[in-house]
Amino acid sequence: MIRRLQASRNWVFDLDNTLYPAECDLFAQIDQRMTKFVSEYLELHPEKARELQKKYYLEHGTTLNGLMENHRIKPEEFLEFVHDIDHSVLPHSPSLRRAIEALPGRKMVFTNGSEGHATSVLTALGLQDVFDGIVDIEATGFVPKPSQPAYDHLVDHFDLAPDRSVLFEDLSRNLVPAHDMGFVTVLVYSNKDWSHEPEAARPASSSATEEHVHFSTDNLTEFLVNVSGEPS
Ligand SMILES: [Mg+2]
Repeated sequence: MIRRLQASRNWVFDLDNTLYPAECDLFAQIDQRMTKFVSEYLELHPEKARELQKKYYLEHGTTLNGLMENHRIKPEEFLEFVHDIDHSVLPHSPSLRRAIEALPGRKMVFTNGSEGHATSVLTALGLQDVFDGIVDIEATGFVPKPSQPAYDHLVDHFDLAPDRSVLFEDLSRNLVPAHDMGFVTVLVYSNKDWSHEPEAARPASSSATEEHVHFSTDNLTEFLVNVSGEPS
C-alpha cells in the first residue's frame, strides 16, 4: 500500500479538522453556530435544537442536509450563518504548506462546508494558493460526504483516476466510499472530541484499524513529509 501511496498523483484533502488540528476548536465554533441557527430558525430551546442538530448530522450526513430534507431552509443562508466565525485561532502553517507543495501531482480540497469557508480557512492557514481546486457542498448539489454521489462528483469534476488518488479525512465514515472506489485512504486523527458527536459520527480518537483505513496519522505534516521524502 505504501507503493500505491507514493505512486499517487491526486491528493484530496478534507478541510475541517484535517488541514488544521481539531485542537484549534474552530469546528466547535461552527458547531455552536449550527445549534444557534436551528434554535432560532425552528424556534426551539437550545437544548432541543442541539438534539435535533445531532440527529440530522447522524442520519443525513450533515445538519444542513437534515434541515433541507425536513424543513424549507435556504442552504446559502445556513452556510453563511454557521461559517461566521473567528479564524484567528488557526495556525499559520508554513511546514504543512511545504509538505503539500512537495507532493507530486494535483492537490484538491473536498469539503462538506462552503467554498467561502474553505477559502477563509485556507487563507488563515497560509494555504490559499496551494490547491488546484475545491469541491464544496454547493458543487455537489448539497449532497454531503459520505453519500456516494458526492464522491462521484469529485471524481468527475477533477477527472480523477481513483487508483492514483488519496483521500485524507478526520472522519472514518467518510473514507468508506473512497476506499470502495479504489482510493488510498488516510485517517487524520486527534484525541480531541471537538463536538461530542453521536458515537457513529465521531471523529477517530486513535489510530483506527478498520479495513477501509489504509493509513492513519495524528500529524498530517509529518505524514506528508515521509511520503514525498522516501524514494518510490
Ligand atoms: Mg473534517
